[in-house]
Amino acid sequence: MQSDPRLVWAKCLDIIRHEINEQSFKTWFEPIVPVRVANNTLMIQVPSQFFYEWLEENYVHVLRKAIDYTLGRNGMLEYSIIVDRGNRQNPPIALNVPNQKPSTPPPAAKQPEPTIYQSPFNLKDLDSLELDSYLNPHYTFENYIEGDCNRLGRSAGFAVAQRPGVTSFNPLMIYGGVGLGKTHLIQAIGNYIKNTQANKFVLYVSSEKFVNQFINAIRNNTLQAFTNFYMQVDVLIIDDVQFLAGKEKTQESFFHIFNHLHQSGKQIIMSSDRPPRELSGMQDRLLSRFKWGLSADVQQPDFETRIAIIQKKLQADGIYIKDEVIEYLAHSIDTNVREIEGVIVSLMAHASLNRREIDMDLARATLKNIVVDTEKEITADSIIDTIVNHFSISLADLKGKSRKKEMVFPRQVAMYLMKEFTDLPLKSIGYHFGGRDHSTVIHAVQTISVSIENDKEVEKTIDTLYKSFNRVREKGQESTDHKKSSSH
Ligand code: ADP
Ligand code: MG
Repeated sequence: MQSDPRLVWAKCLDIIRHEINEQSFKTWFEPIVPVRVANNTLMIQVPSQFFYEWLEENYVHVLRKAIDYTLGRNGMLEYSIIVDRGNRQNPPIALNVPNQKPSTPPPAAKQPEPTIYQSPFNLKDLDSLELDSYLNPHYTFENYIEGDCNRLGRSAGFAVAQRPGVTSFNPLMIYGGVGLGKTHLIQAIGNYIKNTQANKFVLYVSSEKFVNQFINAIRNNTLQAFTNFYMQVDVLIIDDVQFLAGKEKTQESFFHIFNHLHQSGKQIIMSSDRPPRELSGMQDRLLSRFKWGLSADVQQPDFETRIAIIQKKLQADGIYIKDEVIEYLAHSIDTNVREIEGVIVSLMAHASLNRREIDMDLARATLKNIVVDTEKEITADSIIDTIVNHFSISLADLKGKSRKKEMVFPRQVAMYLMKEFTDLPLKSIGYHFGGRDHSTVIHAVQTISVSIENDKEVEKTIDTLYKSFNRVREKGQESTDHKKSSSH
């Protein structure tokens, strides 16, 4: 039996490393310090209570596996949690807690009696006579794709879903731009709780609706009832709280409800289109409450996540399309998930209207239409078309390997324009030129930038190309600014 904690932990890490991704490994396992092995129990030191909770929420099975392997099935794990790092005079304080056994879900037969909530609140104003949760059942964790863009929010959300009101993620605030999955995620938490803990009253409400209900309650003299109703909720999910900005009276009411729920160990989940610190028009005391728990952002999905999202959507609709088409879509739409979904829907519509398969040509054509419809910027494809016409070269040559100047120059100009006119990452730009890597793209962009400065002919060519994009001429001011800021 091993008794050197470092050796035991090193073995554990070997196992854990294979079970989880590198980022998680670095974040959650590298900071752990093995302390001792005694009585078949490994003690590990973790930097904080939060850290400990996170491990227990997310990695208990992985840890169990590692302990099984190194110390045997009776092996145990104990945490030493640093609660105060101390200073020169005072040593750090640590709290020791044994590892919880992986919990088994409660047997389905033992469903608790549903609690009947006597709502004194004028139910007509709640749009329903039943205690509806107002959740969309399609928003689940199963169909929420995890990526670097949402990992923290998703994991925290899942922790909250399993133990609402108990974790330190209370309130949980999910923030980020439109169409990035905030509503989906916070509803997934609600659905999960509803499906696993039937006795909990979960309520989803948009901030807009909350405001309207509040106004009606004032008008109808039912404010007390309104407040009482919300105070009975076990899990309050409130979407787009930025909408409360500037609505002083509603905020006041929300503040009281918030305090009551929080003090009674009820879970509060919120979303916002910006981080709490940027929520102007919000009372400070409310903002400070928002910061009690955890704020996690959702960002634009990266390429791999976009691929996974597209695949999931297609799978849900029972559609098959070739990988190259999926890849093309993922490389071409980089704004948000809602837009990706929109493109898939139109693709399917086009395919069924025209009775044809979804192939590259259809994808290109569809994307072109959508881009025109939504007045979006210039796309990779439109740039390629323009370059091919302008320089009278073939598409194959443009994308090919030839190093002749007649091919290299147009290729570099095309890359340069993509960098200027689109938000595509370098990797995606390279993709449109036969999978060239990002350093090739950087080189092209630099070469052209320098040439514009030093070579009147090149400058003229670029100006002509700028003009040939009619839309750019419409936004002349903006594109000139853009050009200035990137080349000076
Ligand atoms: P937001 O509330 O941030 O504006 P939504 O939650 O309404 O965004 O998401 C927009 C659409 O994109 C929804 O249909 C949602 O299901 C989908 N979506 C967003 N993120 C993901 C994801 N990570 N995985 C799967 N679908 C997603
Ligand atoms: Mg939303």
